[in-house]
Amino acid sequence: MPFDPSSLRHLFPILSQPAHGHPLTYLDNAATTQKPLLVLDSIQDYYQTCNANVHRGAHFLSDRATNRFEQARENIARFINAPGQSHIIWTKGTTEAINMVALGLEHLLKKDDEILITSLEHHANLVPWQQLAFRTGARLRVLPLTSSGEWETEFSHYFTDRTRIFSATQISNAIGTSTPLQTMLDHAKQQSAFTLVDGAQAVAHYPIDVQALDCDFYVFSGHKMYGPTGIGVLYGKNHALEVLIPYQTGGEMVRHVSYQATEFNILPYRLEAGTPHIEGALGLAVACDFLLSQDRPALFAWEQHLANHVYQRLSKAGGMEIYSPEKHTTLVSLSVPNIHALDLNAYLDSKGIAVRAGSHCAHPLMAQLGVSGTLRASFACYNTLEEADRFCDVLIEAIDLLS
Ligand code: PLP
Repeated sequence: MPFDPSSLRHLFPILSQPAHGHPLTYLDNAATTQKPLLVLDSIQDYYQTCNANVHRGAHFLSDRATNRFEQARENIARFINAPGQSHIIWTKGTTEAINMVALGLEHLLKKDDEILITSLEHHANLVPWQQLAFRTGARLRVLPLTSSGEWETEFSHYFTDRTRIFSATQISNAIGTSTPLQTMLDHAKQQSAFTLVDGAQAVAHYPIDVQALDCDFYVFSGHKMYGPTGIGVLYGKNHALEVLIPYQTGGEMVRHVSYQATEFNILPYRLEAGTPHIEGALGLAVACDFLLSQDRPALFAWEQHLANHVYQRLSKAGGMEIYSPEKHTTLVSLSVPNIHALDLNAYLDSKGIAVRAGSHCAHPLMAQLGVSGTLRASFACYNTLEEADRFCDVLIEAIDLLS
């Protein structure tokens, strides 16, 4: 393998501490990644050198904060190949971005319109659409994908002239499967549906080109791609953002207000009410720069190599069901008959190994798999082969002990 994680592991000091007397082995990266020093420094630097509110002040610090904040927006646009900064709306994360779109499109939906999602969605890309359907009388339909991301049945009839919104994840957070995104988007566009891509699990791993994807909306969270928590992005095409009714109103997003009426600001500000998460935006821009400075295909290949290594070792060990694909994924999700995933999690934690046990905010998918939850180990660029092996060794030890 050409990539050596030790070349960047020193940038993540949190990883060098012990946990319960063992070396910390952090394999919960699909939940949130650790942050490189550059990101931590940028937050400190913001408060030390330019803390002020953006856009409103006319003084040295405010100008500096506004310039950096808007430069950060430019960086994000470049990172996902958006045509310009007006396409980038700051949000708290993926969840807020999807809610923003669901609420913003409500005025265009009517009874018997259809909202289409897939069976691999995180609750963040399900509940907002379900609630929108309840409020409008639209129907929520689910495109049945198998756990390996293939069509369960003939699928084209799911895309109808009633499909108004199609929203799908790029990669399943629960089992690591990639969805057949481009084919689905093509079908949705033939029906002139709005299209949204949940990129929460994709952005950390490979380059995103929103213009090549040609979706109306693309959403992601900073904290899953080495950036700070509390900041995320809603990318939208111009016409798609223009039709959104702002779901929050107040300061910042207006041009002129009287008691009779409000004139809203232009994009992107029209959809950003209140003081934004300034240091989060700056930190996220630095996280983008961090990723852009790396050999991204090499990082992705390494993360997949680790997941595949674990897959091979655990398949050989037997006694468990693995739900993730063998290849082309960066995580391994599994269950062990008659042992609760939380018990395995507790044992692994006692040895310093952080994984995730549970439903991964995907109850319908767990029901489809016939389990209440799985144990998930997910990899990032700083993980080592030794860590992957430690996870396998300790998991096999836990199964022996608990069965
Ligand atoms: N979508 C997917 C695929 C996810 O993995 C997650 C988080 O795990 C979300 C949406 C929600 O992200 P956030 O909690 O950052 O809003």
